[in-house]
Amino acid sequence: MKYPYTNPCYLKIDLFCRGMKIDPGCDLDNDARPVRRTRAGLGSGLEIIIPPNLHTNVPLEESFVSTTPYTLHKENGKYVIRRDGVLITSVELPRRPHWYDQSTTSGKQMSRIAVMQGTYLAVYPGRICHFWTTTPRTSCHFCSTGLNVGAIEAREKTVDDVLETVAAARRENNITYVHFNTGYMLGEELDFLEPFVRAVKKKTNLMVGVQTTPAPDLSKYKKLARLGVNNVSFCFELWDKEQLAEVCPGKSADIGQDRYLEAIRYCRRLFPAVNGEIIAGLEPVENTLEAIRWITKAGAQPTVCVFRPCVGTDYEDKLPPDADALIPVFREQYEACIRNGVPIGIAPNIKVSLVVLPEEGRYLSTDKSSAFKIKETRNQAVKTVFRAYFNLQLSLKK
Ligand code: SF4
Repeated sequence: MKYPYTNPCYLKIDLFCRGMKIDPGCDLDNDARPVRRTRAGLGSGLEIIIPPNLHTNVPLEESFVSTTPYTLHKENGKYVIRRDGVLITSVELPRRPHWYDQSTTSGKQMSRIAVMQGTYLAVYPGRICHFWTTTPRTSCHFCSTGLNVGAIEAREKTVDDVLETVAAARRENNITYVHFNTGYMLGEELDFLEPFVRAVKKKTNLMVGVQTTPAPDLSKYKKLARLGVNNVSFCFELWDKEQLAEVCPGKSADIGQDRYLEAIRYCRRLFPAVNGEIIAGLEPVENTLEAIRWITKAGAQPTVCVFRPCVGTDYEDKLPPDADALIPVFREQYEACIRNGVPIGIAPNIKVSLVVLPEEGRYLSTDKSSAFKIKETRNQAVKTVFRAYFNLQLSLKK
């Protein structure tokens, strides 16, 4: 089945895969968030909001964009997307936060401390991932972290830098979630992040997520859970171990997929939410589906990135996947969560622009059975209770 471009989830996936050109009548300098290439590279595009509320980071600069049928236009003061000239939808562009141009007390520009991705604040406080420093380099071939840290992002970020930036983003953007991410730091990741996490939790009570390679000593996650971390996520990237070794030589050799899966199982008992993160488009769809089924059976949420051959990375000349081939992936991402009782979409105001959220896959779902509907209703009930609880917690630390 071919999905219409008016299906918002399909459009989000197709924009990830095809990118978008910018009509000269657009005024992105004044109307949009600046394009900030951050972290492993997925954030290299323009942030837009597809109705009803799908935050989407659309590639602009990668070479495959030259053949895209999509163009962003500004018409009568509003932004629209056209496909081969035909109007598809209006879109909103989130504004550049004023705090991007403010400085922390130590004199660093706040946009070099953290960035908005969708509706949450993303912080990469650590040094460059170890795999970018080995000889020969063993970094993941799709990754651009080593091109960003020190260039686009500040190399040193103190706890105070991060706290001040979080406060500014909270004031202006009403964030509810701060996401910390590091590369491989030879097993020191959690110790390194602890003061940042502790400070943000203590001062704000915002939801906090941590994404690192699995700690060598899994019992360290107990401490993180005691600090109130809401979510941990583990990027094992590919399901097929041989392909993992080819795409991520350092990660495969020094850590290995089994360690990631063990960490997901272990952390599931400790945290409200655990994510297993994979990339669609670098291995056959069947493998990605298998990974989704494993993750959801373990009680975790699958985060599925669409492979983006970012400029400057080892894979910049590869092609992104085809959107139609990915439909079963994102349908399964949603349906497997519901089938296995994995709560999705429960946290308030977390819209992720870099990936298709599991709940956004609802637009692709074909399961109309009453058993499935009952499970969807159950997820809705969990969401209502959790939101009330979180809003209460937040109100105590305003
Ligand atoms: S582990 Fe791989 S994807 Fe993550 S920062 Fe290092 S090189 Fe990049």
